[in-house]
Amino acid sequence: SELQENVRKDIELEPVTLDGQSVELLMNAGLIAEFDRSMKHGASGIGLYRTEIAFMERGSFPSEKEQMAIYKNVLNSFKQQPVVMRTLDIGGDKTLEYFPINEANPFLGWRGIRVTLDHPELFLVQVRAMVRANIGRDNLQILLPMITSLPEVDEALRLIHQAYSEIRQEHGEAVKRPPVGIMLEVPSLIFQIPELAHRVDFFSVGSNDLTQYLLAVDRNNERVSSLYDAYHPAVLRALNIIAEQSKAHKVSLSLCGELASEPGGAILLLAMGYDKLSMNGYNVPRIKWVIRHISQKHARQMLETCLQLDTVTEVRGYLNQQLEQLG
Ligand code: PEP
Ligand code: MG
Repeated sequence: SELQENVRKDIELEPVTLDGQSVELLMNAGLIAEFDRSMKHGASGIGLYRTEIAFMERGSFPSEKEQMAIYKNVLNSFKQQPVVMRTLDIGGDKTLEYFPINEANPFLGWRGIRVTLDHPELFLVQVRAMVRANIGRDNLQILLPMITSLPEVDEALRLIHQAYSEIRQEHGEAVKRPPVGIMLEVPSLIFQIPELAHRVDFFSVGSNDLTQYLLAVDRNNERVSSLYDAYHPAVLRALNIIAEQSKAHKVSLSLCGELASEPGGAILLLAMGYDKLSMNGYNVPRIKWVIRHISQKHARQMLETCLQLDTVTEVRGYLNQQLEQLG
């Protein structure tokens, strides 16, 4: 169709609104080691590399050397573009055959950073592999999943510093210190943004988990799936508060959940002031097209309206009506 043709032509263009506001579009990935041009979909880097996927494909924990080889390929395929690698996010719905976790409430249990801080040997090996893979490049950024409290951040930073110092001693000046960021996906962090801003280089909102935890709805439970919706007014207001406070504290802000890959969601996030949106690669061209066909002014008007609405139904209804007018 004509629309698909236009979307394809836009791939090489910049994601800039009609009135000149730019936003960075990145892609989410996992497992794939080497990316050729067609697999990048016009994204300007990887905003979320889910390292657990490579761990799930194996029969035992990959060694530092094996991990280094995987990470190196990913960093190499993006050359000067940033690659945000998330440390192991197992638990919840993602467990490893060789590391079983049996719990009554896995999403509220031993998950993400909680597991790796209890097993610093796993964390250190992974971070060492990442830092070594980044030698001779400098496009690695490290992202910590499932952070709930400040001491977790401090402990993770301490371990990252330890790994970095070891590699630096082993390999010298070529070893670069990667920026470190955290996932904002547990609601407690909404109330600790100033303290977090002092500690880390960037925030990345995980809207999939943030929605699940704000609304107390299991993201995989079909019986309550109609209650799981990122367009819930409370979720939108939380996302807006995060954006306002991150801006006030001058922290780079990205969002890497499904919401970024939906036209209505992307427009609202652009209006809130999110600097970067990360999504499945095949959605990048479509979102780029949307960004290039709306003004920041119009997006802000849409956001203001949505923030006043009472229900998911009203928000979705309003957004659909606006999107139809957009084409
Ligand atoms: C999220 O929670 O929004 C996210 C991007 O991470 P994952 O889906 O891997 O939990
Ligand atoms: Mg998550």
